[in-house]
Amino acid sequence: MDFSLTEEHIMIRDAARDFAQTELLPGVIERDNAQTFPDELVRKMGDLGFMGIMVDPKYGGSGMDAISYVLIMEELSKIDASASVMVSVNNSLVCYGLEAYGTEEQKQKYLTKLATGESIGAFCLSEPEAGSDATSQKTTAIDMGDHYVINGTKNWITNGGRSDVYLVIAQTDREKGHKGINAFIVEKGMPGFDIGPKEDKLGIRGSDTHTLQFNDVKVPKENRIGEDGFGFKFAMKTLSGGRIGIASQALGIAAGAYELALKYSKERKAFGTEICNHQAIAFKLADMHTEIEAARMLVMKAAWDKDQGNNYDMSSAMAKLYASKVAMEQTVEAVQIHGGNGFVKEYHVERLMRDAKITQIYEGTSEIQKIVISRGVIRG
Ligand SMILES: Cc1cc2nc3c(=O)[nH]c(=O)nc-3n(C[C@H](O)[C@H](O)[C@H](O)COP(=O)(O)OP(=O)(O)OC[C@H]3O[C@@H](n4cnc5c(N)ncnc54)[C@H](O)[C@@H]3O)c2cc1C
Repeated sequence: MDFSLTEEHIMIRDAARDFAQTELLPGVIERDNAQTFPDELVRKMGDLGFMGIMVDPKYGGSGMDAISYVLIMEELSKIDASASVMVSVNNSLVCYGLEAYGTEEQKQKYLTKLATGESIGAFCLSEPEAGSDATSQKTTAIDMGDHYVINGTKNWITNGGRSDVYLVIAQTDREKGHKGINAFIVEKGMPGFDIGPKEDKLGIRGSDTHTLQFNDVKVPKENRIGEDGFGFKFAMKTLSGGRIGIASQALGIAAGAYELALKYSKERKAFGTEICNHQAIAFKLADMHTEIEAARMLVMKAAWDKDQGNNYDMSSAMAKLYASKVAMEQTVEAVQIHGGNGFVKEYHVERLMRDAKITQIYEGTSEIQKIVISRGVIRG
């Protein structure tokens, strides 16, 4: 096993770290309060190649590997998980889905802009009655010959308001169950496609999450992704890669909180000494450091599996399950180490604690990850 990063990996990690410190840190508290994220910052992430990290340069991407992707995700998430979820959805769920399964025409028309950040993408699977049980799709797409007509509601859609391109999963033939599901490319502004108000959330408040309505939306046949009936498999395949992104987001949130807690513990004095000299605090730091490093190994393993062309369904589920648990537990500890200061916005750890929770919920809850892992374990 070789754990060393290449020069290119170090370069891209440092670029992301520098961007996070200089561009994301200023205003992160205000963005969280106001639930906003300026287009200007999205454009800058596009200019740095973060919006299409793994996409082939012939489609405008950075042509890097999954290891580079998780390194960037970790650095952005240390400072602003709202920025990193935008990056993750655009890369893993939208760009990857189109590059791996789209037609050449779809790639030329949509991927080339998504990979540079000129366009932003959203992935629309969840519905009011189809979350963990994604096969219970109520949204329908009726085949009308040269086009489909989509009707239904999608909820919890990340980048829901700011996107230009929406990959929408819908039922085309109920009788066929999950084999009667398809994925479609829907453009903002198509008649009958409406975006609901922004959700008021606990965490990742800078990321815009919306309910979407589809009322007789006409989508040309050439906007279907893959063969007829490929939609559910498409969703599961893209989500597998998405989980690597969310695992690295969780890792970054945990690492960001740990770095702040370590620094604070060396400065804050109680009972005549820095609090890191009290064993109760020192042992918390030891646990945090160990668990974060373990999470990083799982995240790297999942990314490595993807880069090697190995199946990464299990390793991405394990990385997400574990890293999100570490993020939740260790951000709580980071608040504890900060005492009263941990409870106010100025010290950042309370935001990281709020942001951590979503990593146990989206792109498959922790319970769903355990279903994926246990099936893999039992199947052998
Ligand atoms: C901020 C945010 C952003 C999101 N972004 C997107 C997005 O961009 N695109 C998208 O399509 N979706 C998105 N989602 C939706 C997200 O993926 C779902 O919320 C998630 O999959 C859980 O579905 P649910 O909310 O319907 O919960 P439910 O499925 O109703 O689950 C409720 C609880 O029951 C548990 N549960 C359910 N089934 C089982 C089972 N078989 N065994 C054990 N436990 C079970 C769950 O783990 C959970 O604890 C987002 C959600 C949020 C909150």
